Amino acid sequence: MEKFVLMTLPYEADALEPVISRATICFHHGKHLAAYVNNLNALLPDSGFEEATLEEIVCKATGGILNNAGQILNHELYFGQFTAPKEGNVPLGRLLVAINRDFGSFETFKEAFHKAGATLFGSGWVWLSADKDGRLLITQETNAANPVQHGLKPLLTFDVWEHAYYLDYQNRRPDHLAALWKIIDWEVINWRYA
Ligand code: MN
Repeated sequence: MEKFVLMTLPYEADALEPVISRATICFHHGKHLAAYVNNLNALLPDSGFEEATLEEIVCKATGGILNNAGQILNHELYFGQFTAPKEGNVPLGRLLVAINRDFGSFETFKEAFHKAGATLFGSGWVWLSADKDGRLLITQETNAANPVQHGLKPLLTFDVWEHAYYLDYQNRRPDHLAALWKIIDWEVINWRYA
């Protein structure tokens, strides 16, 4: 049974260099994410979630089904938000207005988001999400958790599992997080916010 399939990356494996290397992309997408997809497909038969969407599974399941579905949802958002590096890469449009409203400025938001990622203990994800009124907030989630579990709409995420950066940055998680701002595709984030 192959209900879920490994997402196709919207860029070449070396397109994000030097921020994220081809080797990291190949392991992270081709090995780690692929394993979550294979694991979930193997767990689905007779689980009661055969017909469920990924988000439904993440909001209702427990145990291995939840963990693997959560990691698929998280990584689809993660890999889907990047583009080739550029200097002076900043948010635009309605999202920038909301960032300024809810955090004061893009720089203040960046500092808070970076700190949330740098201080998250162990494996997890830092998220920018919108609540039902469109208000923005930053949350830390451990392991495979996703803000949809709290009724939030996830917009932007940094993966702070070591597999996301160890080949390129070893223990220097903050350096990795600082570099990620160059490859955020803010048009994608704006589209998610709309
Ligand atoms: Mn990951």
